[in-house]
Formats: sequence, C-alpha cells, structure tokens
Amino acid sequence: MSELRRYIEDLVEAYGVSGFEDDVRAVMKRELEPLVDEVTVDGMGNVIGRKDGAPGGPKLMLCAHMDEVGLLVSYVDDKGFIRFNTGVGWIDPRILLALDVIIHTRKGPVPGMIGTKAVHLCSKEEMESGVDIRNMFIDIGATSREEAESWGVRIGCPISFDAKVKTLKNPDLIVTRALDNRAGCAVILEVLRRLKGTKLEATIYGVGSTQEEVGMRGAPAAAFAIEPDAAVILDMPFPGGDTPGIEERDLPLKMGAGVLLEVCDHSGRTPAYGLIANPHLRNFIEDLAIEAGIKVQFGSFAGTGTTDGATIQMSRSGVPSAVMAVSGRYDHGPLVMASMTEMEQVTDLTVRVAKSFQNFKRPE
Ligand SMILES: [Zn+2]
Repeated sequence: MSELRRYIEDLVEAYGVSGFEDDVRAVMKRELEPLVDEVTVDGMGNVIGRKDGAPGGPKLMLCAHMDEVGLLVSYVDDKGFIRFNTGVGWIDPRILLALDVIIHTRKGPVPGMIGTKAVHLCSKEEMESGVDIRNMFIDIGATSREEAESWGVRIGCPISFDAKVKTLKNPDLIVTRALDNRAGCAVILEVLRRLKGTKLEATIYGVGSTQEEVGMRGAPAAAFAIEPDAAVILDMPFPGGDTPGIEERDLPLKMGAGVLLEVCDHSGRTPAYGLIANPHLRNFIEDLAIEAGIKVQFGSFAGTGTTDGATIQMSRSGVPSAVMAVSGRYDHGPLVMASMTEMEQVTDLTVRVAKSFQNFKRPE
C-alpha cells in the first residue's frame, strides 16, 4: 500500500463534521510531527505544520480543510428516535435514506441508521413525492429518550456518515466517506513526507483547516498568523461531471483526467464569497505541470461552491491564492469516488511548487 493510500485510510477512519474536527486533527498532528520543524494548533482548531526553509526565504501556505459535511441532532423523541438537520454542510437530503451513520457523543460513538416510514404503508401520493428530511429519523435502537440520553445522545451531537475505503475493480479508483477533503489532507502529509530531509528555499506551512464546509471559517485565522507570500489550496471542491445526467458543457471535469486548476469559483449561497485564482500563481503552477508532463484541467465555476482560498486571499494585505484539486465523483454525498493517480499527480505537482516557490514573482 502506498503511503498516500495509508494516509487516506487513517484520515477517513477519523470523523470530523464541521466544528468537531478533533479526531482528524489528532491524525494530522501525529503524522505531521515527524515531518516538520514545528506543529501548532490555533484558537480555531487549525493545525499548522512548519517546515523551515532558508532564512529570509518566502513562505508558502498549503491548506486543506479537515472538516466534512454531516448532520446534527436537533431532537430526541420520547421513543428514542433522533431527528436531525443539515446545520453542518451542504448535503442533498434525497440521498440520506437508509444510510449508516454514527452519532458522536461525549460518551463515545453511537451507531445507527437513517429510517423513514416503511414502503409497505406508503400511499401512492407519498411514493411519488419522495421523502422530505422532516420525515426521516435516525434509529439507534434505543427504546426511550432516557435510554438515548444515557448513551450520550442529545441535541447538538454531530452525526457523520460511515464507510470504509473500498477499491473498485479498476484498482486506481477508491470509494469512501469524507474524501472531500481527506484527499487534500493526505496530499499535504505526502508532500511533506516526500520533502523530508530536503533543504528548501521556501518555508512550507502545511495547514489542516477547520469549518470550511460552513463558510471557510478556520483558514483565515491560520493565514493571518502565517502571513504567507502565497497559498495553494488542496481540495475536492467539485464533483466530476462525467456521470449520467450532467452535460459535459455544464461541468467539463473528469475524474482522473488530471489536476484541476481552478480559474474562478463562488459560493452558491453568497456570491460575495469566492476566488479568482491569482493568474500569476496559476500560470506558475501550470508551467511546472507542463515541464513535468502532469495533466491539468481548468475549471470556471459560478455559484457552485468555493474553497478556503476565498477567505485566505483576503488575509492581512492579501495573499495570492490558487486551488489544485482532485475531481471526485459524488462530492458532498455520503460516498465519494476518486482516482489515486489523480491524487498522486496533485501531490507531485505540489512538491514541485514547494521546491521552486522562490521563483514565484508576485504581481508588481
Ligand atoms: Zn472541500
């Protein structure tokens, strides 16, 4: 098993709904420590690993969010069934039915599944209208509110999807939970592992950020402290568009077709949040990719979501920022499919960016 794959397996086995990233941070911290000169955690819960470069050299921030989309307990009824909301991330409620979930409590994890009224008893109208999230619940096998509460379940507990890593018949493809953005976290670890023992001009900061899925809230605090000369965001911001029902012209992104270099994006919820990737930085990365024979894809998106780059770029006097991404199918769903080769390509290109970052010229 490759080191990159091992990082993914370890990171996927940790759970970290937005705002509750402790377990993922623990893995990041443990894995960063032998690779860098210092590891710190800030007040937002971001973990920051610093690999020192030459004195007076430039600072490059690599950032991947640690949090994942999930659910929150909103109510426990007197029979012990759990109601929930989507307060921690942008999720399609239509795909929630019958999923394996874990409720995270102060007393430990509580497994369960998402249920609804049995098909046997649904009217024709109910069958045609689909199931509203208000008619779903989580069944943890409790017989009363008291029993559920005795297991630690109460309002506000985070809920995550559950799945192991599965390799498909095509051995390059994996399917698992939370690849948005454990893929990016794994890339940062693998980049720093490959750079271990190499003296660089630039100081490299590997950041695992918090609360990206609820509005990129953690990353700006890390950027403020680091004051980087540029930032590269490693993420999985968009699903591959190479699946039935999507016209290629609407999402010309293919899983496994190369590193996604974003040109433009903005959030569907607030168009004020978004990133126009710094063209000088993006061109610098593209030139390195061409030199190394690494394939890239470009993305110009409007209203379909953004990344930590949206807030990092506005830190202090401004940070030139770009996104290098993996295109996983079914992003923001309970299971995501992605290509290991594409993650390797993002890793390879990021190593090249780190090694030659001293040659990057900010616009004058
Ligand atoms: Zn993401």
